[in-house]
Amino acid sequence: MVNYPPEPFRIKMVEPIKMIDRQTREAALKRANYNVFGLRAEEIFIDLLTDSGTGAMSQHQWSAMMEGDESYAGANSYFRLAEAMREIFGFRFFVPTHQGRAAENILCAVALGEGEYIPSNMHFDTTEGNIRARGGRPTNLVIDEAFDPGNRHPFKGNMDIDKLRAFIEEVGVDKVPFGMITITNNAGGGQPVSMENLKAVADVYKEYEIPFFIDACRFAENAYFIKLREPGYENKTTLEIAQETFALADGATMSAKKDAIVNIGGFLAMNDEGLFQKVKNELILREGFPTYGGLAGRDLDAIATGLREGLDEDYLAYRLGQTAYLGKKLLEVGIPIVEPPGGHAVYIDAGSLLAHIPPADFPGQSLAVELYLEGGIRGVELGSVAFAYPDPSTGETIHPKMELVRLAIPRRVYTQAHMDYIVKTFEKIKARQERIRGYRITYAPELLRHFTAQFEPIG
Ligand SMILES: *Cc1c(COP(=O)(O)O)cnc(C)c1O
Repeated sequence: MVNYPPEPFRIKMVEPIKMIDRQTREAALKRANYNVFGLRAEEIFIDLLTDSGTGAMSQHQWSAMMEGDESYAGANSYFRLAEAMREIFGFRFFVPTHQGRAAENILCAVALGEGEYIPSNMHFDTTEGNIRARGGRPTNLVIDEAFDPGNRHPFKGNMDIDKLRAFIEEVGVDKVPFGMITITNNAGGGQPVSMENLKAVADVYKEYEIPFFIDACRFAENAYFIKLREPGYENKTTLEIAQETFALADGATMSAKKDAIVNIGGFLAMNDEGLFQKVKNELILREGFPTYGGLAGRDLDAIATGLREGLDEDYLAYRLGQTAYLGKKLLEVGIPIVEPPGGHAVYIDAGSLLAHIPPADFPGQSLAVELYLEGGIRGVELGSVAFAYPDPSTGETIHPKMELVRLAIPRRVYTQAHMDYIVKTFEKIKARQERIRGYRITYAPELLRHFTAQFEPIG
């Protein structure tokens, strides 16, 4: 039994949502060429496309925004953010950026050369893109358990330490300008990384004198997983766990749209002063002056407040409890998911739910379409539409290891009744599962095709 934790907030402003009728949903899907990215927000009842920038800010964040200082240089808002940064992350230097990918772009611009390798447990797609855009080679070294949906390893985001060591030896330490780890592992199902593993990764990087950067988007959810699951941490606060985490690293990138619960923002932090000089120059060229970095002063205040709220343990118990509740309820009605559920999302194993649809006919795509048709719910396919690619030598299509549909849960937005409604929708889909058909692609761009691909139903 998983209990639904009562929301540790009450609602004083509401955003109406409306379920349009089935015929209108069918027409909307057709117009969007069966790609849910092409739907308008008003056509959706429950939007689980992403947890990025979709959270609800608190009254404290909104009132902090009213005190935003819009001075071009040296704004009070910057110093309030700097204080939160010092307390939680403790790096000597940081710059605000407009999103996580801007931080990644700047880091790669100043620290990565053509043909160099960046290891991680798993890079998120924007990180991977930014490394590749500079001629670098992103490399994923997560433990094998990450690819087994039924394996209930408590820290499925862990890096494989032997693989990391072997990898550095193989490519040569001078080809690795910095190393990373993503907490939690978004691309691998929002799975956490243990403190033990973080320490082991830091030790390897230190041994080879490779600077260690943490992709910290969901550092607070990761800290709470450590508190819940790792012996020795049950009595530490999430703030203490976060401090211990970042003390292991030389820097971090973060999208504040995740665990800082804001609609826009991010940062790049580091200890190395020489690197900071280069970062500042690149930032001024691309983003803005180092005390605002492409954001408004009020955004900096919202982040400063949100970083602390994101670490609140009542909030985190509710946050991870809500995700666990949805995962558990789906399992109870026979919907296969990636277990255990991660922090920010539940991943449906569409490949096994719709086992009669081969990967080439995109079972995840079928499920994403059915979710919208049946319940006005928007999830996202993360299977062969997003990740299949042609083998460079044979031209044969290589399918990913799993055909998934991600249900990402916005922070502080939906209630238990919404979660129950999602489960009911899945029950209805399951009742007619063998009649669900696959899709074929009628148009696709070469890169990141899931955003704009067009489809038609088969048969
Ligand atoms: C969202 C995300 C990013 C990129 O952040 P944006 O703000 O979307 O640019 C990078 N890494 C991880 C793990 C993310 O979840």
